[in-house]
Amino acid sequence: MFDNIDNILEYQKLDADARTIEVELSNTEERKKTRYCLQFLKDSEEKLKKMEQEAAELNAKYISFCELYEKNAALIAEYTLLVDKTIDDSELNYLSKKYADLSRTISGIERDVKNIVAEAEKINKQFEDYRAKLPSAKKQYAEAKDAFEELRKRREPEIIEIQRKKAELEKSIDSQILNVYKDLKKQEVKYPYLVKLEGTNRCGGCRMEMPMEKLSDLDKKGFIKCESCHRIIYKA
Ligand SMILES: [Zn+2]
Repeated sequence: MFDNIDNILEYQKLDADARTIEVELSNTEERKKTRYCLQFLKDSEEKLKKMEQEAAELNAKYISFCELYEKNAALIAEYTLLVDKTIDDSELNYLSKKYADLSRTISGIERDVKNIVAEAEKINKQFEDYRAKLPSAKKQYAEAKDAFEELRKRREPEIIEIQRKKAELEKSIDSQILNVYKDLKKQEVKYPYLVKLEGTNRCGGCRMEMPMEKLSDLDKKGFIKCESCHRIIYKA
């Protein structure tokens, strides 16, 4: 039978105490505000980047529409010259139809350009609004961070004391079981890592029945690992 199970149980309790402090700190208004402010800053950065991209795309679109406009305006000038020179009726009909088509195209382009300009102005305004909010958001984040840091420092002596006690206890815990314990903790197995054998053959964590050979190991070694939840099972 494993003789220093009490020490590792005490060790586990210290881990639970440390965890409670972490959870309490994490649930404070100061921590929540820090997280909220940071998220706001991250979101803003992303939105600003997106708006910059949109503005660049609109600008490219604007330039290509302006080029298209120039091209069509030049064509219209050409047709105007041709109309002046032509005396043939059917030719004139054809040209005036072309002229009307081009005029419509140009009106369309003008409308598109106007929309692009309006859209760009809208994005520009949003961009400026966001940028204007950034300094105060950064200040709020820094303040929240400082306030949380202050809280954390206040609890630091407790954490240091827990670590000291754990280091002290480690000396009297069998290294084999301690290593298994530490592995479980690293693997983020759900607390507690050490559970009692329930009844005669069940894991106290997940209630899975353990096979006979495992149970005889438990008698020999003092602990076994649950095959299902991987926790350390010990006998009370
Ligand atoms: Zn289990």
